[in-house]
Amino acid sequence: MAFHSGFVCILGRPNAGKSTLLNALVGEKVAIISPKPQTTRNRILGVIHVPRHKGRPGGQVVLLDTPGVHRPDTSLGRKMMAEVREALHGCELVLLIVDVTRKFAQADQLVLEMARKAGTPVFLLLNKIDLLRGAKQKLLPIIDDYRKLHDFREVIPLSARRKEGLDVLLEKMIRFLPEGPRYFPEDQITDQPVRFMVAEIIREQVLVETSEEVPYATTVVIEQFEEGAKLTRIAAAIFCEREGQKGILVGKGGQMLKKIGTAARLDIEKMLGKRVFLELFVKVRGNWRESHEFVEELDWRRQVERLASNREV
Ligand code: GDP
Ligand code: MG
Repeated sequence: MAFHSGFVCILGRPNAGKSTLLNALVGEKVAIISPKPQTTRNRILGVIHVPRHKGRPGGQVVLLDTPGVHRPDTSLGRKMMAEVREALHGCELVLLIVDVTRKFAQADQLVLEMARKAGTPVFLLLNKIDLLRGAKQKLLPIIDDYRKLHDFREVIPLSARRKEGLDVLLEKMIRFLPEGPRYFPEDQITDQPVRFMVAEIIREQVLVETSEEVPYATTVVIEQFEEGAKLTRIAAAIFCEREGQKGILVGKGGQMLKKIGTAARLDIEKMLGKRVFLELFVKVRGNWRESHEFVEELDWRRQVERLASNREV
């Protein structure tokens, strides 16, 4: 029986629901999510293992979640867009996801242009249909309008949050993808190192707890990660850009940092299935988002490459 597989990249403007869709399809949380735009900063790989079903072939869909497509104005923003391009490069199918409750805007057009330029077939996903409530008859004219924009291979209404319409999407992806190898073993759902996922979980809590500029000016670096038999010791630095932001992140009497730390620790323990001792430090690094070098340092794929090349010399 045939085995279908391939690389599929999820593109869309910030907040369309890309990471929610990735997690829903993979069935586990591999990407952090928040109501704030630009939550995702790297391309995030998630593997869907699809069993054979009633005459339909089984297979493996390697999904790449990406940062929201936007016009970048910092080194961090440019890096995020480079991540989008790298995900697009070499994928066999684009899932262009839009928020059905919002008008097709310039940002969506930008996404479509990127897919068009790459010449990759596109499935259009109309996300957040749960918000249309009784007004689902509104969908047909919306679908018609979108069809005029591009020759989409499929147009699929869904709700990533409610997990509606995902079966249809999965079915269509598997049928679309060619016969191919099993790229990842059956027990693997992502390629992210645990340390990076831990840093992301901490950053997610910063996104939850803070507002305005703070979440955008924050990044998390794991400084210590020691796995004991019963307890994993983790120390992480939360970098921000200004003293004022540090004040907010620490909070009165350390309250805020404690809140972030406790919530993050619980999530990390859930992921690791082990007790965790988590220490957080807030550090200021002026305008780090403008620093090409620092932004590159944050890229775990770069770190892995560097470690590998050090080993070779
Ligand atoms: P991304 O920036 O495209 O990765 O978007 P996220 O996955 O981080 O989601 C952005 C926001 O939209 C979050 O608050 C999600 O909970 C919300 N969201 C995602 N999918 C749906 C959906 O199907 N329905 C509704 N109502 N909200 C959604
Ligand atoms: Mg995201």
